[in-house]
Amino acid sequence: MIIKNNDQPSVYLRQLEALNRRLAGHHPKKEKVAQMYRNHYSGYLGERALHYPLSFIRHKPYAILFDVRLEDFNHTYFQIDCLLLTPHFILVLEAKNLSGSFVYNADFGFLEKVKDEKESAMNDPVHQVFTQRNKLEEWLSTHKFPTLPLEARFISANPNAIFRTSNKDYATYVIRMERLPSMINSFWDEYPSPAITTRQFKKLYSTILQHHVTYFPSILAQLHIDRKDILRRVYCNKCDAFSYRRRNSLWFCPYCNTSSNTAHQSSLTDYALLFHQHISNAEARSFLDVASRDVIKRLLLKENFPTTGTRKSTRYDLTSLL
Ligand SMILES: [Zn+2]
Repeated sequence: MIIKNNDQPSVYLRQLEALNRRLAGHHPKKEKVAQMYRNHYSGYLGERALHYPLSFIRHKPYAILFDVRLEDFNHTYFQIDCLLLTPHFILVLEAKNLSGSFVYNADFGFLEKVKDEKESAMNDPVHQVFTQRNKLEEWLSTHKFPTLPLEARFISANPNAIFRTSNKDYATYVIRMERLPSMINSFWDEYPSPAITTRQFKKLYSTILQHHVTYFPSILAQLHIDRKDILRRVYCNKCDAFSYRRRNSLWFCPYCNTSSNTAHQSSLTDYALLFHQHISNAEARSFLDVASRDVIKRLLLKENFPTTGTRKSTRYDLTSLL
């Protein structure tokens, strides 16, 4: 059973998407942001691809939690792409959608990407997944859970990616997506008796779920991007431009002649992702580029956002858009 799903991209991926959309092409950070967005999006596709092989698990009970972020005892956070919990064992999965050929350098412990005879080093995903596994082990002991066998694997989501290594141990931890179901089912043979009771198992996944903290950084501060560099106005999907204007109680795009009742919603979502989860009438007027206070008031009231403050200090809570 899936306890925490990843049907929707993470808040951070949506922040990068919004930022990429709202930075002008000539902005000095544009290429960096676009690259970050592509990398994270590709990672998300890798995680999404886990759904199908995980649907072949034959044994019960089990609990799957995608994208779990927990605080360790040093008050830093660690994030796990996919966590499979059972009363017999725990499996930590790191999925990547890498393309190309890779060689693991066992002497120095890093992965090399081989491209047109050129080589470049990258973070070793096997090392990464073992770091997460070890942090989870500490976390479980801090929260007084009994010791369970803790396995970790790196899943290569791209069928065209090739991994080479002379190190047999390393090869054990790199699993191609199609081998995932048989590998998972074999763990029940390896750990035939449960290490915890069904009750402890339920407590385990509910405690992890309770302690999960969504990664939601102040992304503009993090990337040193000035607030005034963010493009304002309402976005037209068809034109890929911020071209919607208010006309006759609708959003109207003068370039493609489309109109919309709801186009402001995605812009307010961008506002919540990039600036703040609360917005005042004046801020909404400026961001959506609408002069009339009454028009904005009607728009915001129609969305039924919870409010704080009264009259001019009213702020609308955009959390429901996230
Ligand atoms: Zn348009």
